Amino acid sequence: MQRKLERSRAHFRQAAKRLPLGVASNFRYWGDDDTFYIERAEGGRLWDIDGNAYIDYRLGYGPTILGYCDPRVDAAAMEGMRQGSVFALSTERELAVAERICKMVPAAEMVRFSCSGTEAVMAALRVARAFSGKDGYVVAEGGYHGVFDAALWTTDMEGWSGQGDPELVAYSEGVPGILRSLVWQVPLNDADRLEDLFKRKADKIGALLIEPIQGNCCAISADPAYMKAVRELCTRYGVVLIVDEVKTGFRVARGGAQEIYGIQADLCTYAKAMGNGYPISALAGRRDIMSIIGQTVVHGGTFTAHAVSLAAAEKTLEILDETDALATIAGYGERLREGLAGVLEARGIPHCFVGHPALSGLFFSETPPAGYRDWKTSDHVFYDTLAPLLVDRGVLIEPDSREPWFMCEAHAKGGCLEETLKAFAAAVDATLEQLGDRGQSAAE
Ligand code: PLP
Repeated sequence: MQRKLERSRAHFRQAAKRLPLGVASNFRYWGDDDTFYIERAEGGRLWDIDGNAYIDYRLGYGPTILGYCDPRVDAAAMEGMRQGSVFALSTERELAVAERICKMVPAAEMVRFSCSGTEAVMAALRVARAFSGKDGYVVAEGGYHGVFDAALWTTDMEGWSGQGDPELVAYSEGVPGILRSLVWQVPLNDADRLEDLFKRKADKIGALLIEPIQGNCCAISADPAYMKAVRELCTRYGVVLIVDEVKTGFRVARGGAQEIYGIQADLCTYAKAMGNGYPISALAGRRDIMSIIGQTVVHGGTFTAHAVSLAAAEKTLEILDETDALATIAGYGERLREGLAGVLEARGIPHCFVGHPALSGLFFSETPPAGYRDWKTSDHVFYDTLAPLLVDRGVLIEPDSREPWFMCEAHAKGGCLEETLKAFAAAVDATLEQLGDRGQSAAE
């Protein structure tokens, strides 16, 4: 079974002449024959230009927390549109949204807005470096923090032999090699390794960038004890703790991952769910650190706090804060996990779920991974085979096993569960058939 993609394929051939890879972001290219184009979306569903319908668990990599075309958010965005666009001056609404963020996130004492997750993290790193007076920074294996040069360093897990540490390599050509000397990588969930690094490089390292739930790596999660140790070590060694909540923020809890872990960052970054798909992000954090913005540190941008996005964020955050939307989303995620587990158990396929029900990693091994290295030994070939078969059956997940599944409020209202489970059972059976003996051994 392969869904019809003629129109998308024809469009791709035209688009590739004007747009590198035929798309606007490398991650939207699925191959010359499999890149497809979207006609429209509503609730938890998407339709492509060939008329194929999908229940969407990618949700644009996370922003759509309530559902596509949410009428409450879109009405607010229209209000922002009527106000204008950007004025190179501020509006009263900026304070209203900042107040909401500070109410929801205890670590947030002051806020600055940007347009994307990348911009927020970029600003966080600059502020942290200025505050600490040290340019070096630490990232965790499997972490992802956006598409700017300082963040485009990635763990080469595919190339890892299983001995020693995996290498940290540039994600892209064009990233100056000279930047490598400023970044250190540590395995997640190993506080001793972190302490050892801080002890050796205390005079060089000014910031630690971390996602407690790795939104781009199967939702692999830090242990609560590890996050507490991270907090304590950063304080002890004068390192600014930046918790990157671009994916977890306003999704896994009102106060994001920090609420779940019971810790407070020095700086934290938000984007995705904050505006239900309208482009807006925020850098928030300690008053003494944030206050250096405008004194010695520059932050700004023509489109920051754009009236449309800001109005959308005001409404989205109001809904997430004042209704039970996040409980509905997590509840749907729980029921989905139970249903998927039922399908897999019936076929004897070892699996576990990682992360949070609203941002859920599906892992084909019996024990949850403690870090990215465990991904290497999980049966991701099974996942990689399953994913396109599921997409063909109208359930949209990322083809790469490292991208978690995202839930939105509209999934729970749209009767998506039964359809997903039916498609999942059929796709698992097709995977077992396709993998033959290999699939059988996965099921043993
Ligand atoms: N940080 C994290 C944790 C992310 O997941 C992402 C994007 O997926 C980013 C930063 C970059 O955000 P954006 O794609 O909006 O620039």
